[in-house]
Amino acid sequence: MDEVILSKGRDRSVRRRHPWVLSGSVARVEGSPGPGDTVGVRSAEGERIGFGHYSPQSQIRVRLLGFGKEAPDEGLLVERVRSAVERRRSDPLLFGTDAIRLVNAEGDGLPGLVVDRYAECVVMRCSSAGMVARAALLAAALRDATGVRTGVRRDDSVAARREGFEARQEVLFGEAPEGPIAIDERGRRYLVDVLHGQKTGFYLDQRDARDLVERLARGRRVLDLFSYTGGFSVAAARGGASEISLVDSSAGALAVAARHLEPVAGEIAIRSVEADGFRFLRTDPGMYDLLVLDPPPLAKRRGDVAHASRAYKDLVLHALGRAAPGAFLLAFSCSHAIDPVLFRQIVFGASLDAGRSPQVLAALGPPSDHPVSIDHPEGAYLGGLLLRA
Ligand code: SAH
Repeated sequence: MDEVILSKGRDRSVRRRHPWVLSGSVARVEGSPGPGDTVGVRSAEGERIGFGHYSPQSQIRVRLLGFGKEAPDEGLLVERVRSAVERRRSDPLLFGTDAIRLVNAEGDGLPGLVVDRYAECVVMRCSSAGMVARAALLAAALRDATGVRTGVRRDDSVAARREGFEARQEVLFGEAPEGPIAIDERGRRYLVDVLHGQKTGFYLDQRDARDLVERLARGRRVLDLFSYTGGFSVAAARGGASEISLVDSSAGALAVAARHLEPVAGEIAIRSVEADGFRFLRTDPGMYDLLVLDPPPLAKRRGDVAHASRAYKDLVLHALGRAAPGAFLLAFSCSHAIDPVLFRQIVFGASLDAGRSPQVLAALGPPSDHPVSIDHPEGAYLGGLLLRA
Protein backbone atom coordinates (compact mmCIF):
# COMPACT_ATOMS: atom_id res chain seq x y z
CA MET A 1 0.00 0.00 0.00
CA ASP A 2 1.13 3.55 -0.71
CA GLU A 3 2.03 5.63 2.30
CA VAL A 4 1.82 9.27 3.31
CA ILE A 5 4.57 10.22 5.74
CA LEU A 6 3.88 13.17 8.00
CA SER A 7 6.33 15.88 9.00
CA LYS A 8 7.77 15.73 12.49
CA GLY A 9 5.16 16.57 15.12
CA ARG A 10 2.29 16.61 12.62
CA ASP A 11 0.98 13.23 13.79
CA ARG A 12 -0.64 14.93 16.78
CA SER A 13 -3.91 15.78 15.10
CA VAL A 14 -4.23 12.26 13.64
CA ARG A 15 -3.60 10.75 17.08
CA ARG A 16 -6.41 12.97 18.34
CA ARG A 17 -8.57 11.33 15.64
CA HIS A 18 -9.00 14.43 13.50
CA PRO A 19 -10.14 13.02 10.14
CA TRP A 20 -8.07 15.31 7.87
CA VAL A 21 -4.39 15.32 6.92
CA LEU A 22 -3.64 18.74 5.44
CA SER A 23 -1.10 19.13 2.63
CA GLY A 24 1.19 21.19 4.87
CA SER A 25 1.60 18.24 7.24
CA VAL A 26 2.86 15.85 4.58
CA ALA A 27 6.64 15.31 4.43
CA ARG A 28 6.60 12.84 1.53
CA VAL A 29 4.58 10.19 -0.25
CA GLU A 30 5.86 6.66 -0.80
CA GLY A 31 4.57 4.95 -3.93
CA SER A 32 2.37 6.76 -6.44
CA PRO A 33 -1.20 6.81 -5.16
CA GLY A 34 -3.85 8.10 -7.56
CA PRO A 35 -6.88 10.26 -6.69
CA GLY A 36 -9.10 8.43 -4.21
CA ASP A 37 -6.73 5.53 -3.52
CA THR A 38 -6.52 4.21 0.01
CA VAL A 39 -3.21 5.13 1.62
CA GLY A 40 -1.59 4.42 4.96
CA VAL A 41 -0.54 7.37 7.12
CA ARG A 42 2.72 7.22 9.10
CA SER A 43 4.32 9.51 11.63
CA ALA A 44 7.78 10.96 10.90
CA GLU A 45 9.14 8.17 13.10
CA GLY A 46 7.55 5.58 10.80
CA GLU A 47 4.66 4.43 12.95
CA ARG A 48 1.44 3.55 11.11
CA ILE A 49 -1.30 5.68 12.66
CA GLY A 50 -4.19 5.57 10.21
CA PHE A 51 -5.68 5.00 6.78
CA GLY A 52 -7.65 7.13 4.42
CA HIS A 53 -8.52 8.31 0.93
CA TYR A 54 -5.85 10.22 -0.94
CA SER A 55 -6.60 13.52 -2.73
CA PRO A 56 -3.43 14.60 -4.55
CA GLN A 57 -4.75 18.07 -5.53
CA SER A 58 -6.63 19.04 -2.44
CA GLN A 59 -5.47 20.94 0.60
CA ILE A 60 -7.10 18.10 2.53
CA ARG A 61 -4.58 15.52 1.28
CA VAL A 62 -5.97 12.49 3.14
CA ARG A 63 -9.43 11.94 4.59
CA LEU A 64 -9.04 9.38 7.33
CA LEU A 65 -11.36 6.42 7.73
CA GLY A 66 -9.54 4.54 10.44
CA PHE A 67 -6.90 5.14 13.07
CA GLY A 68 -5.55 1.64 13.69
CA LYS A 69 -2.62 -0.20 12.20
CA GLU A 70 -4.79 -2.50 10.10
CA ALA A 71 -6.04 -1.21 6.75
CA PRO A 72 -9.83 -1.30 6.51
CA ASP A 73 -11.33 -2.98 3.42
CA GLU A 74 -14.00 -1.46 1.20
CA GLY A 75 -16.64 -3.26 3.25
CA LEU A 76 -16.08 -0.60 5.91
CA LEU A 77 -17.80 2.06 3.78
CA VAL A 78 -20.76 -0.19 3.09
CA GLU A 79 -21.04 -0.92 6.79
CA ARG A 80 -20.87 2.78 7.67
CA VAL A 81 -23.61 3.60 5.18
CA ARG A 82 -25.76 0.84 6.60
CA SER A 83 -25.29 1.96 10.19
CA ALA A 84 -25.86 5.64 9.32
CA VAL A 85 -29.24 4.69 7.81
CA GLU A 86 -30.02 2.43 10.77
CA ARG A 87 -29.24 5.15 13.33
CA ARG A 88 -31.78 7.47 11.70
CA ARG A 89 -34.39 4.73 11.64
CA SER A 90 -34.15 4.28 15.40
CA ASP A 91 -33.76 7.98 16.25
CA PRO A 92 -36.84 9.22 18.14
CA LEU A 93 -36.00 12.83 17.26
CA LEU A 94 -36.52 12.20 13.56
CA PHE A 95 -40.24 11.47 13.64
CA GLY A 96 -42.87 12.59 11.18
CA THR A 97 -40.86 13.32 8.07
CA ASP A 98 -40.03 11.48 4.87
CA ALA A 99 -37.09 13.80 4.15
CA ILE A 100 -33.93 13.09 6.12
CA ARG A 101 -30.17 13.46 5.81
CA LEU A 102 -28.96 9.85 5.77
CA VAL A 103 -25.23 10.48 5.67
CA ASN A 104 -23.57 13.59 7.07
CA ALA A 105 -19.95 13.19 5.95
CA GLU A 106 -17.42 13.18 8.82
CA GLY A 107 -20.32 13.16 11.30
CA ASP A 108 -21.10 9.62 10.14
CA GLY A 109 -17.51 8.49 9.55
CA LEU A 110 -17.87 9.06 5.80
CA PRO A 111 -15.80 12.15 4.92
CA GLY A 112 -16.62 13.49 1.46
CA LEU A 113 -20.13 12.03 1.32
CA VAL A 114 -23.52 13.59 1.96
CA VAL A 115 -26.76 11.74 1.25
CA ASP A 116 -30.25 13.18 1.59
CA ARG A 117 -33.44 11.19 1.26
CA TYR A 118 -36.57 12.79 -0.18
CA ALA A 119 -39.45 10.29 0.00
CA GLU A 120 -38.56 7.52 -2.46
CA CYS A 121 -35.42 9.18 -3.80
CA VAL A 122 -31.92 9.40 -2.35
CA VAL A 123 -29.51 12.11 -3.49
CA MET A 124 -25.82 11.41 -3.10
CA ARG A 125 -23.36 14.31 -3.07
CA CYS A 126 -19.66 13.54 -3.37
CA SER A 127 -17.03 16.08 -2.41
CA SER A 128 -13.84 14.00 -2.33
CA ALA A 129 -11.85 11.98 -4.83
CA GLY A 130 -12.16 8.97 -2.52
CA MET A 131 -15.96 8.94 -2.56
CA VAL A 132 -16.12 9.68 -6.29
CA ALA A 133 -13.92 6.64 -6.94
CA ARG A 134 -16.38 4.48 -4.94
CA ALA A 135 -19.64 6.01 -6.18
CA ALA A 136 -20.98 2.71 -7.59
CA LEU A 137 -20.25 0.84 -4.36
CA LEU A 138 -21.89 3.58 -2.31
CA ALA A 139 -24.96 3.72 -4.56
CA ALA A 140 -25.46 -0.04 -4.17
CA ALA A 141 -25.03 0.24 -0.39
CA LEU A 142 -27.62 3.03 -0.23
CA ARG A 143 -30.09 1.13 -2.34
CA ASP A 144 -29.72 -1.95 -0.11
CA ALA A 145 -29.93 -0.01 3.13
CA THR A 146 -32.97 2.10 2.20
CA GLY A 147 -34.92 0.15 -0.42
CA VAL A 148 -35.85 3.42 -2.15
CA ARG A 149 -36.83 3.45 -5.82
CA THR A 150 -34.49 6.12 -7.17
CA GLY A 151 -30.91 7.18 -6.59
CA VAL A 152 -29.45 10.39 -7.98
CA ARG A 153 -25.91 11.69 -7.84
CA ARG A 154 -25.44 15.42 -7.64
CA ASP A 155 -21.84 16.39 -6.86
CA ASP A 156 -20.59 19.55 -5.20
CA SER A 157 -19.04 21.50 -8.09
CA VAL A 158 -16.90 23.72 -5.85
CA ALA A 159 -15.42 20.65 -4.18
CA ALA A 160 -14.95 19.05 -7.59
CA ARG A 161 -12.72 21.91 -8.70
CA ARG A 162 -10.77 21.79 -5.46
CA GLU A 163 -10.30 18.01 -5.64
CA GLY A 164 -9.82 17.79 -9.39
CA PHE A 165 -12.72 15.51 -10.30
CA GLU A 166 -15.54 16.01 -12.75
CA ALA A 167 -18.79 16.88 -10.94
CA ARG A 168 -21.53 14.48 -12.03
CA GLN A 169 -25.24 14.85 -12.15
CA GLU A 170 -26.78 11.50 -13.02
CA VAL A 171 -29.34 8.90 -12.12
CA LEU A 172 -27.67 6.06 -10.19
CA PHE A 173 -30.58 3.64 -10.16
CA GLY A 174 -34.31 3.66 -10.85
CA GLU A 175 -36.07 6.17 -13.09
CA ALA A 176 -35.06 9.81 -13.31
CA PRO A 177 -37.51 11.90 -11.27
CA GLU A 178 -39.92 13.53 -13.73
CA GLY A 179 -40.40 16.68 -11.73
CA PRO A 180 -40.01 17.92 -8.19
CA ILE A 181 -40.49 15.38 -5.41
CA ALA A 182 -43.23 16.04 -2.84
CA ILE A 183 -42.13 15.68 0.78
CA ASP A 184 -44.06 15.91 4.02
CA GLU A 185 -42.12 17.33 6.96
CA ARG A 186 -44.35 17.10 10.03
CA GLY A 187 -47.32 18.25 8.00
CA ARG A 188 -45.42 20.87 6.03
CA ARG A 189 -45.58 20.08 2.33
CA TYR A 190 -42.72 20.99 0.03
CA LEU A 191 -41.62 20.28 -3.52
CA VAL A 192 -37.96 19.40 -3.90
CA ASP A 193 -36.19 19.64 -7.22
CA VAL A 194 -33.31 17.24 -6.67
CA LEU A 195 -31.79 17.89 -10.10
CA HIS A 196 -31.88 21.70 -10.24
CA GLY A 197 -32.42 22.97 -6.69
CA GLN A 198 -29.65 24.31 -4.44
CA LYS A 199 -27.40 21.68 -2.78
CA THR A 200 -29.40 18.42 -2.89
CA GLY A 201 -32.65 20.37 -3.35
CA PHE A 202 -33.72 21.45 0.13
CA TYR A 203 -32.29 22.67 3.46
CA LEU A 204 -33.05 19.78 5.76
CA ASP A 205 -30.77 21.27 8.41
CA GLN A 206 -33.43 23.84 9.36
CA ARG A 207 -36.18 21.30 10.14
CA ASP A 208 -36.22 21.90 13.90
CA ALA A 209 -36.04 25.65 13.43
CA ARG A 210 -39.08 25.37 11.14
CA ASP A 211 -40.91 23.57 13.97
CA LEU A 212 -40.03 26.49 16.21
CA VAL A 213 -41.23 29.09 13.71
CA GLU A 214 -44.50 27.20 13.39
CA ARG A 215 -44.98 27.43 17.16
CA LEU A 216 -44.05 31.13 17.34
CA ALA A 217 -45.94 32.47 14.34
CA ARG A 218 -49.53 32.93 15.54
CA GLY A 219 -50.83 36.38 14.66
CA ARG A 220 -47.40 37.67 13.69
CA ARG A 221 -46.10 39.62 10.72
CA VAL A 222 -43.28 37.47 9.39
CA LEU A 223 -40.14 38.34 7.43
CA ASP A 224 -38.45 35.32 5.83
CA LEU A 225 -35.15 36.79 4.66
CA PHE A 226 -33.06 34.56 2.37
CA SER A 227 -36.15 32.41 2.04
CA TYR A 228 -35.06 30.03 -0.75
CA THR A 229 -38.28 28.06 -1.51
CA GLY A 230 -40.04 29.32 1.59
CA GLY A 231 -39.23 26.58 4.09
CA PHE A 232 -39.81 28.92 7.03
CA SER A 233 -42.77 30.68 5.38
CA VAL A 234 -44.72 27.45 5.05
CA ALA A 235 -44.07 26.82 8.75
CA ALA A 236 -45.19 30.35 9.64
CA ALA A 237 -48.36 29.97 7.55
CA ARG A 238 -49.23 26.72 9.32
CA GLY A 239 -48.57 28.39 12.64
CA GLY A 240 -51.10 31.15 11.92
CA ALA A 241 -48.97 34.11 10.78
CA SER A 242 -51.01 37.16 9.80
CA GLU A 243 -48.74 38.21 6.93
CA ILE A 244 -45.55 36.89 5.36
CA SER A 245 -42.82 38.61 3.35
CA LEU A 246 -40.26 36.45 1.56
CA VAL A 247 -37.00 37.85 0.20
CA ASP A 248 -34.47 36.00 -1.94
CA SER A 249 -32.21 36.81 -4.87
CA SER A 250 -33.33 33.69 -6.73
CA ALA A 251 -36.47 34.15 -8.84
CA GLY A 252 -36.66 30.37 -9.35
CA ALA A 253 -36.65 29.71 -5.60
CA LEU A 254 -39.40 32.32 -5.06
CA ALA A 255 -41.50 30.72 -7.80
CA VAL A 256 -41.38 27.39 -5.95
CA ALA A 257 -42.17 29.22 -2.69
CA ALA A 258 -45.29 30.66 -4.34
CA ARG A 259 -46.44 27.13 -5.17
CA HIS A 260 -45.81 26.05 -1.59
CA LEU A 261 -47.90 28.92 -0.27
CA GLU A 262 -50.71 28.68 -2.83
CA PRO A 263 -53.07 26.84 -0.46
CA VAL A 264 -52.95 29.71 2.06
CA ALA A 265 -52.58 32.62 -0.35
CA GLY A 266 -56.28 33.51 0.03
CA GLU A 267 -56.11 33.81 3.81
CA ILE A 268 -52.69 35.33 4.49
CA ALA A 269 -51.19 38.44 2.90
CA ILE A 270 -48.08 37.14 1.15
CA ARG A 271 -45.43 39.36 -0.41
CA SER A 272 -42.58 37.88 -2.38
CA VAL A 273 -39.58 40.10 -3.15
CA GLU A 274 -36.73 39.23 -5.49
CA ALA A 275 -33.91 41.35 -4.07
CA ASP A 276 -30.58 41.47 -2.37
CA GLY A 277 -31.34 40.70 1.26
CA PHE A 278 -28.88 43.22 2.66
CA ARG A 279 -30.18 46.06 0.52
CA PHE A 280 -33.80 45.08 1.20
CA LEU A 281 -33.36 45.47 4.95
CA ARG A 282 -31.81 48.91 4.58
CA THR A 283 -34.66 50.28 2.48
CA ASP A 284 -37.77 48.33 3.53
CA PRO A 285 -40.09 50.37 5.76
CA GLY A 286 -42.00 47.29 7.04
CA MET A 287 -42.25 46.28 10.70
CA TYR A 288 -42.31 42.62 11.70
CA ASP A 289 -43.03 40.46 14.75
CA LEU A 290 -41.12 37.38 13.61
CA LEU A 291 -37.94 37.68 11.57
CA VAL A 292 -35.86 34.84 10.16
CA LEU A 293 -32.38 35.67 8.87
CA ASP A 294 -30.85 32.68 7.12
CA PRO A 295 -28.16 34.00 4.78
CA PRO A 296 -25.85 31.85 2.63
CA PRO A 297 -22.39 31.13 4.08
CA LEU A 298 -20.68 34.51 4.25
CA ALA A 299 -17.30 33.19 5.43
CA LYS A 300 -16.06 30.23 3.44
CA ARG A 301 -12.52 30.53 4.79
CA ARG A 302 -10.81 31.85 7.91
CA GLY A 303 -9.64 34.82 5.84
CA ASP A 304 -13.23 35.91 5.22
CA VAL A 305 -14.12 36.16 8.89
CA ALA A 306 -13.61 39.91 9.35
CA HIS A 307 -15.62 40.76 6.27
CA ALA A 308 -18.35 38.23 7.09
CA SER A 309 -18.61 39.51 10.66
CA ARG A 310 -19.31 43.00 9.37
CA ALA A 311 -21.92 41.66 6.96
CA TYR A 312 -23.70 39.68 9.70
CA LYS A 313 -23.59 42.64 12.04
CA ASP A 314 -25.10 44.84 9.36
CA LEU A 315 -27.85 42.29 8.84
CA VAL A 316 -28.75 41.97 12.51
CA LEU A 317 -28.50 45.72 13.05
CA HIS A 318 -31.00 46.49 10.30
CA ALA A 319 -33.22 43.56 11.25
CA LEU A 320 -33.47 44.97 14.79
CA GLY A 321 -34.55 48.24 13.22
CA ARG A 322 -37.48 46.43 11.57
CA ALA A 323 -38.41 44.39 14.65
CA ALA A 324 -41.52 45.49 16.59
CA PRO A 325 -41.22 45.44 20.40
CA GLY A 326 -41.45 41.81 21.54
CA ALA A 327 -40.66 40.46 18.09
CA PHE A 328 -38.92 37.11 17.77
CA LEU A 329 -35.75 37.10 15.71
CA LEU A 330 -34.08 33.90 14.50
CA ALA A 331 -30.58 34.76 13.30
CA PHE A 332 -28.47 32.03 11.69
CA SER A 333 -24.95 31.65 10.46
CA CYS A 334 -23.92 28.68 8.36
CA SER A 335 -20.16 29.29 8.29
CA HIS A 336 -17.94 27.12 10.46
CA ALA A 337 -15.44 29.99 10.63
CA ILE A 338 -18.02 32.03 12.57
CA ASP A 339 -18.26 30.02 15.80
CA PRO A 340 -21.07 30.44 18.33
CA VAL A 341 -19.02 32.71 20.62
CA LEU A 342 -18.11 35.04 17.77
CA PHE A 343 -21.68 34.99 16.47
CA ARG A 344 -23.00 36.08 19.86
CA GLN A 345 -20.43 38.91 19.90
CA ILE A 346 -21.57 40.01 16.47
CA VAL A 347 -25.20 40.06 17.59
CA PHE A 348 -24.16 41.97 20.72
CA GLY A 349 -22.31 44.56 18.62
CA ALA A 350 -25.36 44.99 16.41
CA SER A 351 -27.67 45.45 19.41
CA LEU A 352 -25.40 48.12 20.89
CA ASP A 353 -25.47 50.02 17.59
CA ALA A 354 -29.23 49.54 17.30
CA GLY A 355 -29.79 50.82 20.84
CA ARG A 356 -31.79 47.67 21.57
CA SER A 357 -31.21 45.00 24.19
CA PRO A 358 -32.76 41.78 22.91
CA GLN A 359 -33.07 38.73 25.15
CA VAL A 360 -31.43 35.47 24.10
CA LEU A 361 -34.06 32.74 24.42
CA ALA A 362 -32.29 29.76 22.87
CA ALA A 363 -29.29 28.63 20.89
CA LEU A 364 -30.28 26.95 17.64
CA GLY A 365 -28.59 24.27 15.58
CA PRO A 366 -29.20 21.48 13.12
CA PRO A 367 -31.28 18.40 13.96
CA SER A 368 -29.90 14.97 14.78
CA ASP A 369 -29.74 13.74 11.20
CA HIS A 370 -26.86 16.25 10.84
CA PRO A 371 -24.57 14.83 13.55
CA VAL A 372 -21.15 16.36 14.16
CA SER A 373 -18.27 14.14 15.20
CA ILE A 374 -16.65 15.30 18.44
CA ASP A 375 -13.32 14.69 16.64
CA HIS A 376 -14.17 17.14 13.87
CA PRO A 377 -15.22 20.59 15.07
CA GLU A 378 -15.22 21.88 11.47
CA GLY A 379 -18.38 19.82 10.94
CA ALA A 380 -20.37 22.29 13.06
CA TYR A 381 -21.35 24.94 10.52
CA LEU A 382 -24.94 25.91 11.30
CA GLY A 383 -25.72 27.86 14.43
CA GLY A 384 -28.18 30.49 15.43
CA LEU A 385 -29.90 32.42 18.17
CA LEU A 386 -33.53 32.90 19.02
CA LEU A 387 -33.90 36.45 20.31
CA ARG A 388 -36.78 38.48 21.67
CA ALA A 389 -36.45 42.13 20.69
N1 SAH B 1 -34.00 29.72 4.61
C1 SAH B 1 -33.89 28.76 3.51
C2 SAH B 1 -32.48 28.49 3.12
C3 SAH B 1 -31.65 29.71 2.77
S1 SAH B 1 -30.21 29.37 1.87
C4 SAH B 1 -34.62 27.48 3.88
O1 SAH B 1 -34.88 27.24 5.06
O2 SAH B 1 -34.91 26.69 2.98
C5 SAH B 1 -29.72 30.97 1.41
C6 SAH B 1 -30.59 31.64 0.37
O3 SAH B 1 -30.06 32.95 0.17
C7 SAH B 1 -30.61 30.98 -1.00
O4 SAH B 1 -31.93 30.75 -1.36
C8 SAH B 1 -29.99 32.03 -1.95
O5 SAH B 1 -30.68 32.07 -3.20
C9 SAH B 1 -30.21 33.30 -1.20
N2 SAH B 1 -29.26 34.38 -1.42
C10 SAH B 1 -27.93 34.31 -1.61
N3 SAH B 1 -27.39 35.55 -1.64
C11 SAH B 1 -28.43 36.42 -1.48
C12 SAH B 1 -28.54 37.85 -1.41
N4 SAH B 1 -27.46 38.62 -1.50
N5 SAH B 1 -29.75 38.39 -1.22
C13 SAH B 1 -30.86 37.60 -1.11
N6 SAH B 1 -30.81 36.26 -1.17
C14 SAH B 1 -29.62 35.68 -1.35
